[in-house]
Amino acid sequence: NKIEDDYISGATLGKGKFGSVWLCRSRVTGVEFACKTLGKGEETVHREVEIMQHLSGHPGVVTLEAVYEDSECFHLVMELCSGGRLIDQMSKVGPYSEHRAANILKELMLVIKYCHDMGVVHRDVKPENILLTISGKIKLADFGLAMRVANGQKLTGLAGSPAYVAPEVLLGNYSEKVDIWSAGVLLHALLVGVLPFQGDSLEAVFEAIKTVKLDFHTGIWESVSKPARDLIQRMLTRDVGARITADEVLSHPWILFYTERTL
Ligand code: ADP
Ligand code: MG
Ligand code: MG
Repeated sequence: NKIEDDYISGATLGKGKFGSVWLCRSRVTGVEFACKTLGKGEETVHREVEIMQHLSGHPGVVTLEAVYEDSECFHLVMELCSGGRLIDQMSKVGPYSEHRAANILKELMLVIKYCHDMGVVHRDVKPENILLTISGKIKLADFGLAMRVANGQKLTGLAGSPAYVAPEVLLGNYSEKVDIWSAGVLLHALLVGVLPFQGDSLEAVFEAIKTVKLDFHTGIWESVSKPARDLIQRMLTRDVGARITADEVLSHPWILFYTERTL
């Protein structure tokens, strides 16, 4: 079957480096999906498809409905996330309440833990790649940089987005802990409203990632509680061995406080 036989294509949902994402509608059921078209030129394309198939089934991962292949492209028919991207919500909402941020982080850590348990490192955790359902639940998307890792195997090679990249990625060898760092950068952005490591050039951003200490004495931290600051600091720990794990994030007092309580 060709994709055109089964789906009617609609508006563009997003444009990325390696392809485009379109709205599409099943000719049979009328249900809407998102279709990501990836050129076969990229060696990583097979990996993206394979990893999405491997991970589909967790509520926090964008589900793959079908895959079509023609001579030039793969077409990934995915569950449609009608709530858009977390990054767009962040720029509208500004800093999040601790209650909302803790619930987003908990959902994200559950899916990151699932990926790690399944032997996958995402490597591109950032709010551009976190999508929202219509009811506001988060879905981790874009497994284009994700890698399967065997037990304890180390990864190499620069991957990810500058502001979210973990310091050990810049130095060479790294593990699944890079996803915890990136989620820590996101938590900082959610609570404080700005990224923790900034600079006028790529080099300056990387230098900040390798050296800058979070300064909890500045005014921007006034509204952020002690336990939240503690968690950010534990996630943005440069020593990989000392950095908090996904399980430990999930049982951190700040997460428990805001996610066990029903408001
Ligand atoms: P890239 O690898 O090019 O960054 P992504 O997988 O991140 O591609 O998708 C690019 C954009 O397309 C996303 O940021 C989002 O706006 C949109 N998009 C991707 N998947 C979906 C989906 N399942 N539902 C709705 N929009 C999506
Ligand atoms: Mg992306
Ligand atoms: Mg990608």
